[in-house]
Amino acid sequence: MERAFVLPGDVVGSAEEYVPGDCTYARGGIIYASTAGVVNIDKNGKSVSVVPKTNAPAKLCQGDIVVGEVTDLKDNLVIVTLAFKKGYEDRPISDEEATIHISNVRNSYVKDLRQMFSMRDILKAKIIDERQLRLFTGDDDLGVIKAYCNKCMTGLVLKEGKLVCPSCSNVETRKLSAGYGTGVV
Ligand SMILES: [Zn+2]
Repeated sequence: MERAFVLPGDVVGSAEEYVPGDCTYARGGIIYASTAGVVNIDKNGKSVSVVPKTNAPAKLCQGDIVVGEVTDLKDNLVIVTLAFKKGYEDRPISDEEATIHISNVRNSYVKDLRQMFSMRDILKAKIIDERQLRLFTGDDDLGVIKAYCNKCMTGLVLKEGKLVCPSCSNVETRKLSAGYGTGVV
């Protein structure tokens, strides 16, 4: 039942098992979905809710964590094409391009932006200006989460603190997220 897609009126559980949560209602001991969405059972297994599935773009706000790809690199600026907002992975993003200024890359001085990022890097960043879509990657968990070798495009792996190409042994540097290579956003 967990993660199943349901339509309004579909059974999502029984009132003996669960407390009806958001977007559900109970009738005659049965819990039904009141909207189309994905069934979600809370961590304690006590309540069942439905998370509405919608194509409305995710609104981007200051403090949100977003994931995107580096699509251009200038002397002082990284251009990032946003893929999704954390927690809203299945929703489109309306404003697609964001930037990271060299002063917002990390908490210490950055001399060369190209030592921090490279084209096609996938990175995780925090929105610090929602109007101009300016991003920050200074926290430990922020930064590059997936990078590719500049010589042969193989995915780089973290080996004893260094980013190494498993194919051609090229060693590169990035402003890495603590979650690099784990696949967890
Ligand atoms: Zn390589």
